[in-house]
Amino acid sequence: MAVKDYGHYINGEWVPSESGEWFETKNPTTGQVLARFPKGTRGDVQHAIDAAEAAFPAWKKLPPPKKGELLLRAAQIMRQRKDELGALVSSEMGKVIAEGKGDVQEAIDFLEYIAGEGRRLLGETTPSELPNKFCMTVRQPLGVVGCITPWNFPTAIPIWKIGAALITGNTIVFKPASLTPLCVARLAEVFEEAGLPPGVLNVVTGGGGTVGMAIVENPGIKALSFTGGVPAGREIYTAAARSLKPVELELGGKNPQIVMDDANLELALEGVLFGAFGTAGQRCTATSRLILHEAIYDEFMRMLVERTEALTIGDPLDPNIDVGPVVDEQSGQSIMAYITIGKEEAELVTGGERLTGGMYDKGFFIKPTIFATKHGTRISKEEIFGPVLSVIKVSGYDEAVRVANDIEYGLSSSIYTKDVNLAFRAIDDLETGITYINAPTIGAEVHLPFGGTKNTGNGGREAGTVAIDEFSEIKTVFIDYSNRLQKAQIGD
Ligand code: NDP
Repeated sequence: MAVKDYGHYINGEWVPSESGEWFETKNPTTGQVLARFPKGTRGDVQHAIDAAEAAFPAWKKLPPPKKGELLLRAAQIMRQRKDELGALVSSEMGKVIAEGKGDVQEAIDFLEYIAGEGRRLLGETTPSELPNKFCMTVRQPLGVVGCITPWNFPTAIPIWKIGAALITGNTIVFKPASLTPLCVARLAEVFEEAGLPPGVLNVVTGGGGTVGMAIVENPGIKALSFTGGVPAGREIYTAAARSLKPVELELGGKNPQIVMDDANLELALEGVLFGAFGTAGQRCTATSRLILHEAIYDEFMRMLVERTEALTIGDPLDPNIDVGPVVDEQSGQSIMAYITIGKEEAELVTGGERLTGGMYDKGFFIKPTIFATKHGTRISKEEIFGPVLSVIKVSGYDEAVRVANDIEYGLSSSIYTKDVNLAFRAIDDLETGITYINAPTIGAEVHLPFGGTKNTGNGGREAGTVAIDEFSEIKTVFIDYSNRLQKAQIGD
């Protein structure tokens, strides 16, 4: 079958790059080339920004409820195509089909949710300290915003950014991860079909260091929204500081699940299996540390190893498969390097190898891996982004919290306990942006804020009503109807 060549999506058209160069996006399970995309240049980014600037005034003027209607149409189209789009997520990124469809469902949910914000976009009204004067705040768009996304949620994460940026009246220059551009190309097609005017959403493909940096550094980009790793996030934040543009960073995680001695162990087991090995561990919220109370350590480990060894590994499009491949050779090699480190500094309990033979030779499949380790080893502190779980034994709640918090990241955490007092203490004590009680470290819902503390970001949150804050300016308005000059703070 002929491989389709896509262009950049600029001003409502698919256009080639001025570089004339291409890269391929591949199925991580089969190695099959799915499509080719242009390697963008600074010039391509400038064209996209020009288109977005030209489209901005009309898009800004369109009443937000009308923008909401358009987002709802996009959600409807995605709902009709959910199976196809979910299969594409699994084919381009490698997560199992149930999770591929979940990725798309999360995008639909967010569009439906944020469309309603078109009828709110709330400001404040408040009394003035002076008579016959009225005070309020209104929200305004930022202008052309730049969005840069990773490959692990190739539909949901882009939509979190696109939906929130559009409802608030911005136009967009978007750079998808180079491993999953096809999922974002499909989204551009969905929005076109829904009636989005040309130039409002523009997609430029190519490398992070070239296209990504060109977006970050361009003065035409008024704000940036980035999800990805800490190294790229740090580079982007530093580069953007020169032009003082606002940057939203959603970065890595090393998320702990604590299991106390009174926990429902079966429930905690289901949680850690899904949290650690779902999406082959390639989630920012993946459970990568399991902190076990010493009283249940041996029993829980036995249960965990038995169930982990029973997980099926293979073609993510097969509904009977639990764990698919990791996204590419480079990621696979990086995970295997951590496994080698783990074998030196900790005890390998199960897994620890790359699968070979038959279909396994076409992708990079890693056996779900568990290490028993002390807190402080590299595998227990660094983000591995693969199906590797570090288990740490602790003497009780205080040590569990100390271990959970002694880490550079702060995205998600979880505790399993039946003790309501302990659960509430954990909400206070765990230094993460998200805490789950009796549920795994994964499971975001789109109407609640998402993000983390410490190196997981720079303090902002996505999703929920706060998504609006990320993509809008607040304007403070004073209306004086006294017909005389009134001076705040001056006079009696
Ligand atoms: P990367 O940081 O490598 O890449 C993310 C995106 O940034 C890609 O589009 C990439 O382009 C681009 N990029 C890379 N370097 C630069 C740069 N210097 N300037 C501008 N853009 C750049 O992350 P991954 O794609 O590997 O994703 C995995 C990471 O994302 C993990 O650390 C994970 O924890 C984090 N993540 C965080 C989430 C959160 O909400 N907190 C959610 C999901 C993932 P290209 O693809 O071309 O290299």
